[in-house]
Amino acid sequence: MSNTQDHIQDDNQIDSYRRKLLGGGAALAGAAALGSGVFFTSIARAKPDAEPASSEIRWGFLIDTNKCADNCDKCVTACNDEFNLTGFGRPETDAQWIRTVTLRDKKTGHTTKLPLMCQHCAHPPCVDVCPTGASFKRPDGIVLVDKHTCIGCRYCMIACPYKARSFVHETIENQKEYGPRGKGTVESCTLCVHRVDKGEIPACAEACPEKAILFGNMNDANSDIARRMASTVSTEIRGDLRLDLGVRYQGI
Ligand code: SF4
Ligand code: SF4
Repeated sequence: MSNTQDHIQDDNQIDSYRRKLLGGGAALAGAAALGSGVFFTSIARAKPDAEPASSEIRWGFLIDTNKCADNCDKCVTACNDEFNLTGFGRPETDAQWIRTVTLRDKKTGHTTKLPLMCQHCAHPPCVDVCPTGASFKRPDGIVLVDKHTCIGCRYCMIACPYKARSFVHETIENQKEYGPRGKGTVESCTLCVHRVDKGEIPACAEACPEKAILFGNMNDANSDIARRMASTVSTEIRGDLRLDLGVRYQGI
């Protein structure tokens, strides 16, 4: 794995501070041609509501960027639809829990387009800086925001190296009951916890026509995601930050 200085260009306008952070040294690996993988339509089993999340599980994504077409944003659309994030006539204030970015290798000029969402860090800076405990990590690795205790200080937005969080500026209408949102609070990808706890896969993974987004339990050596991670090169974006990400990429 090389430590080539690389550049990420946000296809949806990243601000200069974030761009500096993201461009500051993604640890990238050479791409390997990969065969098509097994795609989950469901995961092991549903978690009963009364049962706490298990620390034996680490949910995560392995995203094969070789399969991402230049003009495809179906994962983004699926997320927006799942949580009603857009369509209020004010695109400038729309939340964006997943976005496409273009990553450029400064040495070779090679560019890779990939979807970027909350990386569900094992050591999440957003949780470290939150003064109220609203940002928290479940034992199974899913990082969430409790909108009832979020005071909207936005420290977590500044701390996140991936620009994964957004602030809700306006009253939200037509909310989904499984994805409550609140004006004046911060939010980000929930890893579709409402689906995962029912034994289903996240909406973005389900919507991908190329099956580029593999979801599963990274701690289970027999899972497809763990097996593929063990047999191929995968990369953490800004791996130099040592946040132990729950989202890994192939082909960058
Ligand atoms: Fe927090 Fe950002 Fe890491 Fe997600 S990617 S866990 S929002 S620091
Ligand atoms: Fe959006 Fe769910 Fe995918 Fe996260 S896991 S990016 S919330 S669709």
